[in-house]
Parts: sequence; structure tokens; C-alpha cells
Amino acid sequence: MANTLATNTLVAEAVVSPDLKILLAEDSHIYRHLIESQFKEWGFSLILAKDGKEAWKVLCGPEAPRLALLDWILPEIDGLEICRRLRECSPKVAYTYTILLTAKNKKQEMLEAMEAGADDFLAKPFDPLELKARLLVGKRIVELQQKLVSTNEALQHAASHDFLTGLWNRAEIVEFLFRELARARRDRTPVGIVLADVDHFKQVNDKFGHDAGDSVLKAVASGLTGSLREYDGVGRYGGEEFLLVIPGCDLGTTIRRANQVRESIGAREISTPGGVITVTLSMGATAAVSSANLEQLIRTVDSALYQAKRNGRNRIERAEFAPVAAQ
Ligand code: GH3
Ligand code: MG
Ligand code: MG
Ligand code: MG
Repeated sequence: MANTLATNTLVAEAVVSPDLKILLAEDSHIYRHLIESQFKEWGFSLILAKDGKEAWKVLCGPEAPRLALLDWILPEIDGLEICRRLRECSPKVAYTYTILLTAKNKKQEMLEAMEAGADDFLAKPFDPLELKARLLVGKRIVELQQKLVSTNEALQHAASHDFLTGLWNRAEIVEFLFRELARARRDRTPVGIVLADVDHFKQVNDKFGHDAGDSVLKAVASGLTGSLREYDGVGRYGGEEFLLVIPGCDLGTTIRRANQVRESIGAREISTPGGVITVTLSMGATAAVSSANLEQLIRTVDSALYQAKRNGRNRIERAEFAPVAAQ
């Protein structure tokens, strides 16, 4: 067969195409040359690695290829060992589809390759068209896997974030609060908790329209996010209510920081489809060092918020959190 790749000297190579990178680990210069020219003809582009160690480095690097054509016998690390290592890594890293190339062609060896984690096996000498067919299958599997990963990520994001503001949703911020309280208990440091509510928000909707109301909520959310440190958390707790969790802050510091945020959001001129709007926030704040009773803690900030509304709005009220031991 004129087109058959029939040699088996050692060389390792890596292949990349704009949409799909393919690693070729092959120790034979002749195979390298032949596969390289085939890849060019098929529109796949190519990067080279010289041995198993180099191939492994490529696979562990940033934006690593997800499709690997590995010769079985390679200097430093053989193709079989690369397959094993890849399977040990997953599911921590994205899946790499592997095709093992080898002069070995016994059924037992094929089984050994699959058991090591190879997805496919091609015995040398092979017809280039057969190689292309196997690569197309690999490409399809890799693309399906990437689609699955991105769909999963999108679902996870949708399950934990509020669609309108992009903030964490209620379940997520409460979960964050729970974790921070557990840490506070261990470290004996307080966690500041603030529940903020937009004043007379119904009037915003009534006067300027629902879209304007949405823009206000987004602006308030971005004002809150902008005020946070890396380890603080904020989530949309309800319609126009936001929960801030400020780890490592006692009640005094929490009040000071929350007041700065309240003033800065209150001073903002928010452009909306209904015109420029300013809004104020009322807040209830407390600090806790125990995760003993989460519901009771939230009730505490909620009643402080209620007090802020009763006392005229655009203000913050504090509440000491004194957990009652469970009966
Ligand atoms: P207060 O100062 O006492 O908090 O009065 P308020 O008008 O802010 O409170 P109220 O609970 O009477 O009204 C809240 C309004 O928020 C009612 C609801 O339609 C509106 N709302 C809730 N979620 C959204 C949303 O996602 N977008 C918009 N535009 N409005 C929302
Ligand atoms: Mg070899
Ligand atoms: Mg309100
Ligand atoms: Mg409210």
C-alpha cells in the first residue's frame, strides 16, 4: 500500500488546528513526516513534541489538546502510561480522547491499551484514511464532551445565580452565610450580616415602569458588588432585598461599611428606560460568631430592617444577635 505508514522509529509530535488541537506523540521521523503532510491535506494543523515527557507536558499545559494520537513505544514515558495518567487526572481536567498507535496488533495488546484508558487503537502499518476516520470519531466525541461541560457549567450558574442581577440567588447566599458562620465559630471571629431593601420600590415600578425598576435593581446590585472585598458575599435575597455577608467584621465595622454602601448607592443617578432615578436603601445589620440558628439570625436582621423602615427609611438599624439554644 503506497500510502501506508509503515515505519516505527521514535519521535513525538503535537498537532493543533484552530478549532481542535490534536497531539501526536510519535518517535518515528518518517511517521511524523507522513502524518504531518496528511494533517495538512486534511486541514488539521500540527504542533510537535519530541517524546513522552514532552507530550505529557503539552497535555498538562494551558489549553491542552483534547485529542491525542499516541505512539505506544516512546522515550521517557510510553503512550500506555500517558493514557493511564490521563485517566487518573479525570474528571479534574477536561477529557482527552486518545488513539494509541502501535506496531503491536495482538488482541491481548489491544485490550491492554483500552484497559490503560485508550479510547481507540490503530495498528501500524495503517491506511491514512483509516487514521482520518478514527480522528473524526475522536473529534466528534471531544466536541460532544465540550458541549456537555459547557451545558453543565451554564446549568450550575443558572442554579446558583439570579438571572436579572447576576448576583448569587437566595439559596447560594444563605449557603455562603452558613459556611462563613461555621468558619467564624472555628476562628472565633464575627461575621457581619446586612439585609438591605430598596425604599418605596413599588413606586419606582408604578411611576417609571417595570423595566426601569429592573434597571434600578441591576444598578443597586452593581453598587453592592463594587463595595465588597474579595471574601465578602452578596446575594439577591428577594424581589428588592439583598443580603450582604461580611466575614471578619464586628457589628460596629459592619454598620460603618454598610452605611458607606448605603450612602454611595443613594447618591447614584441611575439611568433607566423611564428616566434618571435615585433610590435609597434601608438596612438591618447584625454580627454573629455562631451558626447555631441560621433562621433566628435572619429573623434578627429582618426585624432590624423593619425597624429602619419604621424609623423613616434610608437608614440602618442594628440588632444584637443573642442566639437562643435549641430546646
Ligand atoms: P418599602 O419601602 O416598605 O420597602 O416599600 P416597597 O415599595 O419597596 O416595598 P413593597 O414590598 O411594597 O414592593 C416591592 C416591589 O418590588 C413589589 C414588586 O412588584 C417589586 N419587584 C419585585 N421583584 C421585582 C423585579 O424583579 N423587577 C421589578 N421591576 N420589580 C420587582
Ligand atoms: Mg514508537
Ligand atoms: Mg422595599
Ligand atoms: Mg421588600
